[in-house]
Amino acid sequence: MAFSSRLNSQASTAAQELTEIALLDGVRAAGEWFRAHEEEIADWQLELARIAAPPFGEAARADWLRARFRELGLHDVRLDEVGNVVAVRPGRARQPYVAISAHLDTVFPAGTPLNVYRDGKRLFGPGISDNGAGVTAMLALVGALRENNIPTATSLLLIGNVGEEGEGDLRGMRHLFSNPHWKENIAYTLVLDGAGTDTVVAEALGSRRYEVTVRGPGGHSWSDFGTLNPIIVLARAIEKFSETRVPTTPKTTFNVGVIQGGTSVNSIPESASMRVDIRSTSSTEIERLERALRAALDYALAEESSALDGRTVASRVGVSFEAKVIGNRPAGDLASNARLLQVIRAVDSYLENSSHVQRASTDANIPLSLGMEAIAIGAGGSGGGAHTLHEWFDSTGRELGLKRILLTALTLAGVGE
Ligand SMILES: [Zn+2]
Repeated sequence: MAFSSRLNSQASTAAQELTEIALLDGVRAAGEWFRAHEEEIADWQLELARIAAPPFGEAARADWLRARFRELGLHDVRLDEVGNVVAVRPGRARQPYVAISAHLDTVFPAGTPLNVYRDGKRLFGPGISDNGAGVTAMLALVGALRENNIPTATSLLLIGNVGEEGEGDLRGMRHLFSNPHWKENIAYTLVLDGAGTDTVVAEALGSRRYEVTVRGPGGHSWSDFGTLNPIIVLARAIEKFSETRVPTTPKTTFNVGVIQGGTSVNSIPESASMRVDIRSTSSTEIERLERALRAALDYALAEESSALDGRTVASRVGVSFEAKVIGNRPAGDLASNARLLQVIRAVDSYLENSSHVQRASTDANIPLSLGMEAIAIGAGGSGGGAHTLHEWFDSTGRELGLKRILLTALTLAGVGE
């Protein structure tokens, strides 16, 4: 009882703070600013989507964002060691920061034709929504605060980060939060990713990915028969690993997504490999599955060696396996009584926006896995065809998404001289 009444009083405090802020003249004007400047906002989005930002190739887009941050009067605009663009909008207190981030990278490899265009309220092009919408929302937020001279109590940290997609493996956020200065001084992180207003990602889906390679001496299928065969070892390992039991709660999954190996039908292969994806809402389960994968490989090697005992053995030396981690996204959850959750709920009820808490893998995984308060939300409007060349963004309703971001950021940072 005591616990739930404390939760209720926290929620009502967040709602009160929000209402006071939302009714300030400057904040109302900032809300209007979004509608009045939709053309300019859409132009930013088209402009940035025309600059390629493949994984590990975000530099040109980062340069563009640095120039926009400077134009918008942000302080300490700089590029960090891995290519993240960071800038500060100082508040009355220098610290702690409310961090607002949007990833710069797309899934599209270098050389992908970027056919970016506009047709009325619809914008088209690879990455236009994911994450053209998020980066643009960050600029719109800063623009609206600047035009309306809204001072915040604590400072805002704006981040255009690299490496969110695929094998980027969250490297931008990972680097940022490995810096003690940021880690110790960021109070809340608001990740802007894609379109929409209907979700709050407050639960980080963890994953670990491996490239497993089994190597042997190889040989002729007839004259070297008895040499340990990497494809057979791999097949035995897959069979063993696939028998691993997984719980439904916490939800845990595994997949063997790619297998490769061998050169011809009459050759004993020199190598065979597979790619394995393990996901869970619990880090403990991810680690248990990782151990099961290694045990399956040990078992497969031993089994295949003993199967060979009955045959004429040509060579069994030099057989080994290697399991290389090619992806590692940590899991984590926002506590149900977190202030950030109270604030976004209060904002959604104030804006009469319906949303639900979702679990996903986003840049918020990094702060959440460190026990810090973070959520990922959309930038308003609607989108589709993510990760395809036919991606689109519709700006109808963008204003709601931008107001949602504005009110959340201001309630977290506080408004004041
Ligand atoms: Zn994204």
